[in-house]
Amino acid sequence: MEERRRGEDGYAAWSLRLIEMGLCPCEGCGGHLEGGICISCGCGHHIDDSRFYGRIAPWIPNHVPGRCSDADARRAEEARERERQARRRDSAEALGDPRR
Ligand SMILES: [Zn+2]
Ligand SMILES: [Zn+2]
Repeated sequence: MEERRRGEDGYAAWSLRLIEMGLCPCEGCGGHLEGGICISCGCGHHIDDSRFYGRIAPWIPNHVPGRCSDADARRAEEARERERQARRRDSAEALGDPRR
């Protein structure tokens, strides 16, 4: 089965199929799921039947650094995004506050 990356076309359907087979869809993991948790990387994967979105597979990334490279990548991305927003806020305050 062709591997898909998060965000790619068809990723959702692909990860649903993997989870149905009891396999972890995290990039480079391929671990087995036990009770919705990957025994290899520690991420949570389960299938939700949503009335609005149909069948979806929410991902609960493992919060322990170094356990799952996929979760680490996501965390790094979020940290970068937070930094960008903080910087934007700082410069907006510096420009927009007439009392300074
Ligand atoms: Zn995994
Ligand atoms: Zn993982």
